[in-house]
Amino acid sequence: MRKGMGMNRRIKGFTLVELLVVIGIIALLISMLLPALGKARESAKRAACASNLRQVGLLWQMYANEHKGFFPDHGIGFGNWTLITPDLHDIFDNQYKFNHRAFYCPDWNTDVNGGDPDYLWANPRTDTTPHTYTVGYSIYMPQGNTIAWNNALGNKLPPLMKNSDKRAAEIPLAFDETNLYGPPYNSTITYGYSTHYSKGPKPDGGNALFGDGHVVWRPFSEMIHVVNYPSQFERFF
Ligand SMILES: [Zn+2]
Repeated sequence: MRKGMGMNRRIKGFTLVELLVVIGIIALLISMLLPALGKARESAKRAACASNLRQVGLLWQMYANEHKGFFPDHGIGFGNWTLITPDLHDIFDNQYKFNHRAFYCPDWNTDVNGGDPDYLWANPRTDTTPHTYTVGYSIYMPQGNTIAWNNALGNKLPPLMKNSDKRAAEIPLAFDETNLYGPPYNSTITYGYSTHYSKGPKPDGGNALFGDGHVVWRPFSEMIHVVNYPSQFERFF
């Protein structure tokens, strides 16, 4: 009883200035903590993203081991790095029981293309013939086992067809989807589709998986920039 009354007295004793000081200190602490929390969250996402790509690398090796060393082949005459054919879709689901969520960066902008990875994995796009499934990463596949497919990574880097290729450590298989749509590079247009933003229109960088299975983080300034279809979109890895 006495204790309670004592507390009451103390509470009544707070002045407005004291309250404002306390509120000010709390606000300051929050403002100091928030960026640190944001950074921790982003670095956790980068680590999860790298782990995803390593799983994709293992999947590609498993596939190659059962297909005379050949990596998955797009094989349908439709050139897009982020689409999976129904054949591959079924093989990954049923034969390898692959966790399809590993095809989507945790930092992927889910506002685009319908968003939800589970939905995208389950529903083929209906605007392509034949219908294909959208994947979050850029998956760099040959098409019909031909390296004359397109100049996606520039003619200097044809896609890896076999896991025995000596250039496996230099050629990317999959990477964070970082595109620029619209006018050529150096324009002021916002970078679309990109992942791993912190501030401004450009991403901080992205993860890339290479043919030998290693994954690296590349800051945006060090990413290789290629024009896929001139003045339509450009990619970075
Ligand atoms: Zn990522």
